[in-house]
Amino acid sequence: MVEEKEIIEKLLNGELKIRQIDDLVGDTEKSVDIRRKFIENVSNTKLEHLSNYSLSMEEAIKRNIENPIGTIQIPLGIAGPLEVHGEYADGDYYVPLATTEGALVASINRGFSVIKAAGGTSARIIEDKMTRAPVIKTESVSEAIKIKEWIKLHFNDLKEAAESTTRHGKLIKIDPIIIVGKYVYPRFVYTTGDSMGMNMVTIATDTALKILVEKTSAHVIALSGNVCVDKKAAAINLIEGRGKSIVAEISIPREIVEKKLKTTPEAIVEVNVSKNFIGSAIAGSMSFNAQYANMIGAIFLATGQDEAHIVEGSLGITFAEVVNGDLYFAVTLPDVPLATFGGGTKIETARECLEIMGVYGAGKVGKFAEIVAGTVLAGELSLIGALAAGHLARAHKDLGRG
Ligand code: NAP
Repeated sequence: MVEEKEIIEKLLNGELKIRQIDDLVGDTEKSVDIRRKFIENVSNTKLEHLSNYSLSMEEAIKRNIENPIGTIQIPLGIAGPLEVHGEYADGDYYVPLATTEGALVASINRGFSVIKAAGGTSARIIEDKMTRAPVIKTESVSEAIKIKEWIKLHFNDLKEAAESTTRHGKLIKIDPIIIVGKYVYPRFVYTTGDSMGMNMVTIATDTALKILVEKTSAHVIALSGNVCVDKKAAAINLIEGRGKSIVAEISIPREIVEKKLKTTPEAIVEVNVSKNFIGSAIAGSMSFNAQYANMIGAIFLATGQDEAHIVEGSLGITFAEVVNGDLYFAVTLPDVPLATFGGGTKIETARECLEIMGVYGAGKVGKFAEIVAGTVLAGELSLIGALAAGHLARAHKDLGRG
């Protein structure tokens, strides 16, 4: 076997590429060490902490990472219990949160304690879909219209082809089908079981398109034409939904708002309207909320979700209203791609975090989605409550009113 020193020398003088180490060494853990030592050499560093890990790189390299040199570590906090009453989640849950933002876990925990005092939050999945929208080129706009009609007429053929590639993926519609000049953008919409589904729907759509290309003059320019919309904040996802579209709501008695959040339902409503609605509108934002990205980010990193989907998951609208003197509060997240199976969920630390909530594996994604919705509500309530309390405190001080 080629010696470690010799491999590093070959890497340094360009005779060998870093991706070739695995085949040469034939031992994943060893190739990880060699690649890291090479990087230590070229960057003149000692990568002591990247080298400390317990997960199986042998497994990770099969589907989750290329050219591994170790792992990173993010502090993991726990908040709870979160009381959720949903269709799938019903009870108290402890939620693992990976973050380096001090005060985030404490803030979410404060939200959980308000939720608990008010008897729990209701959470529901209102839409469930994953999308892939290719861009197809035609000869002219009249040809584009013909292709659009063909897709509509032959939906069942396309469905059969798409579903031949997967046991869990189901093509539920191809809609909208957008025409721009001679280009056509059909949005393939699937349910994907407990997986997030991007690989699944990409393979399925690719197979369906083979029929379209065979039977029509369609020419596929790209399998993703950015109408999907994957990993970018987009109005179409806000309107149509993508991943899990989730809502959590709660009614909080005035005394609990006053005692636990040190503010009033009216002050919370005013912060929500002036900040989340008017402020976001002025800014041209698509996220009419205070901090969904914080909760989505911390849960996604902890549980092996695709971290680039945090950008989509942060879309959504927070609603607050005073009802009979009490606070009604709701978060709506139209675009949260989630998995309890596949992707990064098998990574050992992700699996353990999912297990803490009892949502690892098949049949658990609905429960996970409702816990995520409840967690977002908690963080949102806590921050808006804090802002409202600050506003009240300032008003008390400045205006001398009780
Ligand atoms: P995946 O792990 O590639 O696919 C899920 C697999 O699990 C499928 O083989 C599916 O089989 C199987 N499965 C078994 N039990 C299942 C159940 N109960 N529910 C659903 N599936 C079940 O994951 P994916 O969710 O399709 O894709 C996620 C990955 O895609 C992430 O790693 C993400 O980073 C990556 N990604 C890819 C793209 C892209 O364009 N390709 C874009 C963004 C992200 P069947 O298919 O036979 O049902």
